Amino acid sequence: MPASVRDTIFALSSGPPPAAIGVVRISGPRAGGALKALTGKIPAARKATLAQIRGTDGEIIDQALALWFPGPHSETGEDVAELQLHGGRAVIAAVLSALSALEGLRPAEAGEFTRRAFENGKLDLTGVEGLADLVMAETDGQRRQAFRQLTGALRQRAESWRSQLIQALALIEARIDFSDEADVPEGLIAPALQIARRLEGEIAAALADEGRGERLREGLVVAIAGPPNAGKSTLLNRFARREAAIVSPHVGTTRDVIEVHLDLAGLPVTLLDTAGIRETDDPVELEGVRRARARAGAADVVLWVVDASNSADAPVLSTSLRQFVSTADRPAPRVLVVRNKIDLLNSGKRRNELRHQVYRSGELSVQTKEALTKTVNKRLKKRSEFEFNLNELEFVLSALSGEGFDALLAKIQEYAGDYLAGAESALITRARHRQALADALGAVRRALARDLATKEDLLAEELRIAARALERLLGRVDVEDILEVIFRDFCIGK
Ligand code: GDP
Repeated sequence: MPASVRDTIFALSSGPPPAAIGVVRISGPRAGGALKALTGKIPAARKATLAQIRGTDGEIIDQALALWFPGPHSETGEDVAELQLHGGRAVIAAVLSALSALEGLRPAEAGEFTRRAFENGKLDLTGVEGLADLVMAETDGQRRQAFRQLTGALRQRAESWRSQLIQALALIEARIDFSDEADVPEGLIAPALQIARRLEGEIAAALADEGRGERLREGLVVAIAGPPNAGKSTLLNRFARREAAIVSPHVGTTRDVIEVHLDLAGLPVTLLDTAGIRETDDPVELEGVRRARARAGAADVVLWVVDASNSADAPVLSTSLRQFVSTADRPAPRVLVVRNKIDLLNSGKRRNELRHQVYRSGELSVQTKEALTKTVNKRLKKRSEFEFNLNELEFVLSALSGEGFDALLAKIQEYAGDYLAGAESALITRARHRQALADALGAVRRALARDLATKEDLLAEELRIAARALERLLGRVDVEDILEVIFRDFCIGK
């Protein structure tokens, strides 16, 4: 047991004050003593009790609900006390300071309560990750996925696979132990291989999810890009329906990448507003442009916004767009061209734009659409190998008035739906899970592929490797390196 576990820790576990209620938690061997020091008593286990909270000088700080959870039947597995205080700044500060003054107590580090729960076997590592995701979940889909993980969706499968591997190992080891004896049943290896074959199918099936579970954690990433002043920030604000980005008439104000998380009918979408992409010598802007390119290059969808009222933006599918989305080592994101500011067009031009919109929504004949696509691609050919299918990829709207916006929103929602289909039920939600299961599968396959049936010790070794990969997944072995990474994302008091 690490030395830190012997300390008694405390923290404000609810949100920042002021709030109606502030919850302070205390965990460790001195939790009971601390409760007694502050309230004068230890209430009955797991029963909310009204108590007066006193500071070190004996003055009453607050009247609060006190709860007592003796270990091991507590969240952390240790003795835990909880105070539900009035959530004012001064109340919380006074209570935390009274706790600090007690011998053997110290403020908790980020994630330390959960870490103790893990160390005391209350949660496995996939459960810890599910808990972290549940706290961070922004949409219903993410919440359901996180809750499944917290309550053991992956853990139960991994434990079952592991125990079957142990069973297969036992058969093989029995065969090894008795190999000198003439009448040892030869039939020990066959059932072991049968178990391995079944596991191979099951683990491979869990891995064949095309990364859906990981995607639900991230969401569909949509980058908004295009020339300066085209209306990118205004469009982002229309999505977010709040002032998330600074909308300004001056060129080049959006230097950094602004991120807005959206919940589109339960589907998570991350919108990125990128710096105005243009040639510049200003080192600060240059850095903004570089970051914008990198971030949007990794997006699933790029909304390329142009000012339909500005003839300088007219070569819509310009070289800068090509540079922007052409990434050597990964599939290019989908590009939707957004012709913005149609409210500024005179009625003739506007009719023209909206007529184009009809093309795009598929009401004209296929030949016409193909002809249009061909023309654009011919123009593009001169500059690149980049081919566009213009059908349904261009939107005409006014970010300012909202006209035409719903069609774009519906398209993105449709993309998000396709992209995240089946994600909630996927077992794997992190790259770490995928790696561990791939390791296990690799070992099982090696055991089955080579003719190991006569080399029992090699066969046993592969199955042991597979079992160990599953133990790593659950956090039973090789845990130190990953713990730091996982708990880094936790907040204080969790
Ligand atoms: P960005 O540089 O691409 O982020 O552009 P902004 O969103 O900052 O917009 C630049 C200017 O264009 C601002 O003055 C906006 O109010 C204006 N603007 C943006 N969208 C529209 C629109 O649809 N119609 C009109 N009339 N003005 C717009």
